[in-house]
Amino acid sequence: MLEVECLVTGYLEENCYIVNIGKKALIIDPGDNEEKILDLIKEKKYEIEGILITHHHFDHVGALKRMTEEFPNAKLIDNKTKGDVTIEPFSFKIIETAGHTIDSISFYFDDNNVLFTGDFVFRGTIGNFPEDAEDEMIKSLKIFKYIPREVVVYPGHGPKTTVGDELDDNPFLKGI
Ligand SMILES: [Zn+2]
Repeated sequence: MLEVECLVTGYLEENCYIVNIGKKALIIDPGDNEEKILDLIKEKKYEIEGILITHHHFDHVGALKRMTEEFPNAKLIDNKTKGDVTIEPFSFKIIETAGHTIDSISFYFDDNNVLFTGDFVFRGTIGNFPEDAEDEMIKSLKIFKYIPREVVVYPGHGPKTTVGDELDDNPFLKGI
């Protein structure tokens, strides 16, 4: 079974996620507070197989260098990676969701009904984006609309939500 743990890091309160199936685990967006992240990993005796980055803003990658040093064999996944990814026992899709930044991607674990959006979609709102990236953001929101409603969304800041709740309540998804 896939489990998701959230560690809030740094003064911007970024959500670093540890995703595990048994002892095998992935780190998503190691933003800050390296010791806090490493303590959880040690406590649970996780074997880190991959490090996933939704985008390269400092509050999402502040502890990345340390994590790559601690886990040199972990696969690094970011916007340079395309399509479907398998890191045993995990498999997920990379969805290009530019807008907030040009390199923003989301990780969709479609077998597990879980989506990590970084700073693309939050509960009730979306990430800020430069004026000239509006078309990109709309394109990304259109993709979001076609993800099944029951999928649980884990954003880069704030509480989790579902695709369905966002389609119903998020003003930025109205009329898209
Ligand atoms: Zn950001």
